[in-house]
Amino acid sequence: MSLQNPVFIPGPTNMPEALRRACDLPTMDHRSASFPGLLNAARSGVQAVLKSRVAEVFIFPSTGTGGWETAIANTLNPGDTVLAVRNGMFSQKWIKMCRDFGLNVISKDVTWGEGFATDWAAEQLAADKENKIKAVLVTHNETATGVKSDVSAVRLALESADHPALLFVDGVSSIGSMDFHFDLWGVDVAVTGSQKGFMLPAGLGIAAFSPKAMKATEQGGLPRGYFNIQDMAASYASGGYPYTPSVGMLNGLKEACDMLMEEGLDQVFARHTRIAKGVRAAVAAWGMEVCATRPELYSDTVTAIMTPAGFDAGRIVSHADSAYGVAFGAGLGDVAGKVFRIGHLGSLTDVMTLSGIATAEMVMADLGLDITLGSGVAAAQEIYRQGNSTTLSEAA
Ligand SMILES: *Cc1c(COP(=O)(O)O)cnc(C)c1O
Repeated sequence: MSLQNPVFIPGPTNMPEALRRACDLPTMDHRSASFPGLLNAARSGVQAVLKSRVAEVFIFPSTGTGGWETAIANTLNPGDTVLAVRNGMFSQKWIKMCRDFGLNVISKDVTWGEGFATDWAAEQLAADKENKIKAVLVTHNETATGVKSDVSAVRLALESADHPALLFVDGVSSIGSMDFHFDLWGVDVAVTGSQKGFMLPAGLGIAAFSPKAMKATEQGGLPRGYFNIQDMAASYASGGYPYTPSVGMLNGLKEACDMLMEEGLDQVFARHTRIAKGVRAAVAAWGMEVCATRPELYSDTVTAIMTPAGFDAGRIVSHADSAYGVAFGAGLGDVAGKVFRIGHLGSLTDVMTLSGIATAEMVMADLGLDITLGSGVAAAQEIYRQGNSTTLSEAA
């Protein structure tokens, strides 16, 4: 691949130069007086991005996967039951981790391309009179399929059933790019990482806990070592860290949050919505379909595109890499070989996106698919022009 081209994978995402520099700090003694200010700024930055006043933000030298473990290990107890829906590779992996922890997972398999099965979850919760279900796991944005699920609807299902289960949300490919309301949706644990919406290198696992989730951490719990948030919280209280923090990454995270707030969260989300719309317009112009089955499921951060039956979608990814030095996402799990993915989150503009769409066209034409060069680009240009003409008339 070329290091000059933007990447079009749904993480790690393109890094703004300012954030690369922000991560490049000289060695800092994390027991010095300089550290607490940095840690607190990163934690409150994440809290602001989550639109939360109550979330306790924990940051580990880890990745999103460590965030999953943080949610599970700190709030649940051996043999506990959790409710989940398997609708893509990421929800599947989180379910597997629950099973690895010896939890009893009630999970529903839905076709990949569908969202969280809220009606099914509502029935399960209503039927669970003894409150055996301790947590409901929702993948806000299933990165394997480009499917967004409605977290607030799951909160409503919990409320309708008057059920006390915790609401865990994997926001790894949504937080910082798609609207996320930790408090309003009653999220108990939100999980993310540094290398997607926060536009940083991989290296931080982030987990935000509600007061109710914090209370749950006080019970015996599952075996906790590295991801023990009680140890983390105790150190935070004195401005410290229970082990050696990744200081450069924390500075990057603080700067990333500042950058998102400076653009304005609403503007950031609108930019992702517009870019995604342009990508889907291109897909339609190619005469192809996205994996997400209905418009309300369409993701603003990644689009999984179905290739014609009998054609190995993986060829698009490898040819794009070898011929043009551009990275697209391959299909994973149940949709391996059937879809390729255009990641469009983080530090990305309309103009950068056009280059990805144009590259996908060249690749597909090279591989003999029936694609008219420029058709998708033209469709996306119409979407992006409309955006820009609105801006111009507002400025006038
Ligand atoms: C990327 C991703 C993960 C895994 O995160 P890592 O940082 O690679 O551990 C989990 N969930 C979703 C939805 C993701 O997109």
